Amino acid sequence: MMTTTSRPFRSDNPALDNALGQLAGAVQILGYHEGIHETLATPRREVNVAVPLRRDDGHVQVFRGHRVQHNVSRGPGKGGLRFHPSVDIDEVRALAMLMTWKCAVVDLPYGGAKGGVDIDPAEHSPAELERVTRRYTSEILPMIGPEQDIMAPDMGTGEREMAWVMDTYSVSMGHTIPAVVTGKPLAIGGSRGRGTATARGIFHVADAALTHAGERLKGSRVAVQGFGKVGANAAKIFSDEGAIVTHVSDAFGAVRNDDGLDVDALLAHVAATGSVVGFERGDAVDGSAVLVADVDVLVPAAIDSVLTVDNAHDVRARFVVEGANGPTTQEADTILGKNGVTIVPDILANAGGVIVSYFEWVQANQTYWWTDAEIEDRLAGRMRSAYAEVAHHAHDHDLTLRDAALVIGVQRVADAHRLRGLYP
Ligand code: GLU
Repeated sequence: MMTTTSRPFRSDNPALDNALGQLAGAVQILGYHEGIHETLATPRREVNVAVPLRRDDGHVQVFRGHRVQHNVSRGPGKGGLRFHPSVDIDEVRALAMLMTWKCAVVDLPYGGAKGGVDIDPAEHSPAELERVTRRYTSEILPMIGPEQDIMAPDMGTGEREMAWVMDTYSVSMGHTIPAVVTGKPLAIGGSRGRGTATARGIFHVADAALTHAGERLKGSRVAVQGFGKVGANAAKIFSDEGAIVTHVSDAFGAVRNDDGLDVDALLAHVAATGSVVGFERGDAVDGSAVLVADVDVLVPAAIDSVLTVDNAHDVRARFVVEGANGPTTQEADTILGKNGVTIVPDILANAGGVIVSYFEWVQANQTYWWTDAEIEDRLAGRMRSAYAEVAHHAHDHDLTLRDAALVIGVQRVADAHRLRGLYP
């Protein structure tokens, strides 16, 4: 017999515990009963696979892979594939749950899913990464498909891996099926604007949040933590749009220039050296200094749980725009809220990526391709209207932007679940 203590409302994994805590908060606000809470807290379908890799030197190493479909009430599962040594089933469950609310809050016809392999891509050759990607895809094949579950890039994967996933799936089906994966290279059915979509979305919501508060992004001071696909593009876009990017960091260190970093020169430096460290037109600072920099806007765009009880009191930015998934712990969220910091939450702030993934899937299904301008207009429209809707709900119900976004997302999923009914 199942006991109440076995119910999945808490976890030892911090990322999953955070996600479950956020859901519990939304459920409480919405006044849902325990049955619906338990349904929403429980992944719909998950698979764990062994991913054996023949290394280039001939020996065999086995990685663990996972794919979780958290919820598919509003449409097929949607979410990235992560290659990172810290990947485990609980982290993937947390990220899949975030995808469910993210797709719902920006009103995409998708549920939420996520996949991962506990591999460090930096330790492997492209040939090894190709074998791992293809074997993982082959192991989870019955679970994915353009109408079932659509993968995309996440930490440690990019368009190269998506091409391999698409090819492996297509070969096994006997014909090319581009819509099984988004974030593909343009030449094989990728979408214009997908590479910069998350960063462009971050810019749009940051601009909307500052405008809403009677301020201007142009001329405001910005710190960006993380200089990967999301952070580097965000720094470039903020700077191009007239903001002063004073701090950026990556896994190796950070640079600061109070007059504003020359982001184009910094991108060239990173392309040449692999890191922001050693950039001459700025001062070297400690990576952790970026999170507490004296700026208007902080964009955490690296990994989860970087704003915690240990540093939240020291955050001086007045706006935190979450480029990463889960960068703020629940305790830090409370502290920042008390200190008057406006947080644009991950499920809204970084939704630009999955929005353009949706556009890619729609284009693949129609085999009709949109222009750069069409992508940018539609992305801007969706991000700004989702921000307006969340801000409106927050104002009307006296909620934080995070709680308002969660409530809207959770309610849409619960409504779909209720309307479809429980089978049998
Ligand atoms: N991995 C990205 C995210 O966390 C994109 C997911 C997608 O495009 O499906 O939102």
